[in-house]
Amino acid sequence: MKKKKLIYLLTVFLLIIPFLSYADGNRFVVVIDAGHGGKDPGAIGKIINEKKVNLGIALKLGEMISKNNPDVKIVYTRKTDVFVELQERASIANRAKADLFISIHTNSAKSKSAFGTETYTLGLARSEENLEVAKRENSVILLEDDFSTRYEGFDPKSTESYIMFEFIQDKHMEQSIDLASTIQKQFRSAAGRNDRGVRQAGFLVLRNTGMPSVLVEVGYISNASEERFLASKEGQTKIARSIYNAFCDYKAGYDRKQGRIYNKTDNAKNNKETAGKNIVPVSGTKKTQNNTDEQTKTRQIVYKIQFMTSTAYYGKKSSRYKGLSPVSCYKENGLYKYTCYEASDRNDLQKKLTEVRKLFKDAFIVGFKDGEKLK
Ligand SMILES: [Zn+2]
Repeated sequence: MKKKKLIYLLTVFLLIIPFLSYADGNRFVVVIDAGHGGKDPGAIGKIINEKKVNLGIALKLGEMISKNNPDVKIVYTRKTDVFVELQERASIANRAKADLFISIHTNSAKSKSAFGTETYTLGLARSEENLEVAKRENSVILLEDDFSTRYEGFDPKSTESYIMFEFIQDKHMEQSIDLASTIQKQFRSAAGRNDRGVRQAGFLVLRNTGMPSVLVEVGYISNASEERFLASKEGQTKIARSIYNAFCDYKAGYDRKQGRIYNKTDNAKNNKETAGKNIVPVSGTKKTQNNTDEQTKTRQIVYKIQFMTSTAYYGKKSSRYKGLSPVSCYKENGLYKYTCYEASDRNDLQKKLTEVRKLFKDAFIVGFKDGEKLK
């Protein structure tokens, strides 16, 4: 009887564990931030203003998430046409202990021909064009009382102000870029939009959020046909649907990393991969040969612990590695990703991962097959 009770308690405990990993406790919290509002119209179009497009998409996105994801809590920075200060938007997310922050904006350019979608993560703008977008979006703080004190003298229109974004250590960069790439992929494939890529720039609203965060520019209000698309219910639904699909993708990956469905999905994925590659419905000899191939392939999978991501390359030895050695580095999406330790079985790394996480809280295990990162 005693033993039974113990087993029962252990089972309950094991069932609960996976649900303790969200910042909020048992639900994944996503903050949906419709840019601008109230006295701040955002970019001005001929038939609609930015604040209305952003809100329309934000509400549709929230509806889609809440309909299909009971384990997700949605927090809006605004649900109506009201003015919300930039700092307050980030604070709402921080107070809610959000796991993800999605800011929705609409672009505008002098050139009427510019059209398409861009998704930004926090970083130093590498082009004049990206810097201009950040300047325009950050300029909303000029409408706030006392903005100079609140933003410590930050002048949203001066290029010099943006130099500080070069030194920002964003520990969530990896996850943010991951989501940004998925959003752009969805825009391109599912919504048929012009994909202008994942970009970096110094957005104040992203700087102050303590979680993975992206700022989506859903299209150009300055382009007549894109404006019509963005003003329409169908257009807004299409955009929201793409962000929603990307969100689901991101969350599934997040859950996997937290160990919720990790092994099952991973094995299933591997089996599917190898199965797909080995469909040779002929003689027995060939089959054996393929099995051998499969084994060789499996052996070539290497797991490592990724602990840091940066736009800069720090070489083989650096104090930034906090004593971890040897450290290896690979490049992906223009970013340097730093790893340590390796094993052919991911379970062998679990202990090391606990150690590394004492130094780098967000470290995780990443797999490589023939030098290619496993998705
Ligand atoms: Zn905006």
